[in-house]
Amino acid sequence: MSEPNKNVYLFSVDLEDVRLLVENGQQYEERVPLMTEKYLAFLDKHNCKATFFVVGDVAKAYPTLIKKIVDKGHEIACHSNKHIPLDKYTVSSFRADITENLKVLRDAGAGRICGFRAPTYSMTEKTVWVYKELADLGFVYSSSVLPAKNPLYGWPEFGGEPKLMNENIWELPISLYKSKVISFPFAGGVYMRVLPFFVIKKMLKKDWKNDLPVVGYIHPYDIDEGQEHFMHPGINNSKLYNNLMFMNRKSLLNKFDKIVESGANITTYIDYLESTLVNSQ
Ligand SMILES: [Zn+2]
Repeated sequence: MSEPNKNVYLFSVDLEDVRLLVENGQQYEERVPLMTEKYLAFLDKHNCKATFFVVGDVAKAYPTLIKKIVDKGHEIACHSNKHIPLDKYTVSSFRADITENLKVLRDAGAGRICGFRAPTYSMTEKTVWVYKELADLGFVYSSSVLPAKNPLYGWPEFGGEPKLMNENIWELPISLYKSKVISFPFAGGVYMRVLPFFVIKKMLKKDWKNDLPVVGYIHPYDIDEGQEHFMHPGINNSKLYNNLMFMNRKSLLNKFDKIVESGANITTYIDYLESTLVNSQ
């Protein structure tokens, strides 16, 4: 039998509707419920649980979908109410936003909510005040740091390991492939789609060898073959990058099948924390 805290892959879906983040996005077809069902079927197939970081607007639009995720035993966590990066908030506007995010999730049936993920991985040295607010609102952890240089956000000095921050909030930074010339978050999104599986596997095994959990991130659009081809937000209108945003969507879940076959223990963020890090204190 495999040890539960070895070879950990923290599977998470950032449950957001990309149509709400682009101008006149409502003209495009609704895709979030269908893609969420696909993720739920994948998780059922492998009998594992995952964490869904949910944007408040999505919970408001699809409360029965949130209830279904809850009833299947997955973890519900916050991803802000309208997907606004942390540096755009004041302390009080952040608190109001997350309070609303919590409310709509609870109204939809979510029980205990312990986790937060900042939109666009926007937690940096400039926004550490957020940890106190999270603690006051009852959170246990955040998974909001990209520990690398990045044109938008990024916190290169953070390092690759989970850390207990001020106010007793755990921060689980996104997993990074790092070399002297390049570093990138390999465990989800566009990198997971574009890189061949043997490369991904090498990176997973390296983290697992060092007893690090692999912290992933995927979105409804990452597996959506039927989405209309519009320009995604946050990529500076780059046609090249936008083409990457649509690449290999069809094969992503097959890659996750292979990750499971490689011995990954897929689990929720809070289960990992409570069974590993909290006990190590
Ligand atoms: Zn997001």
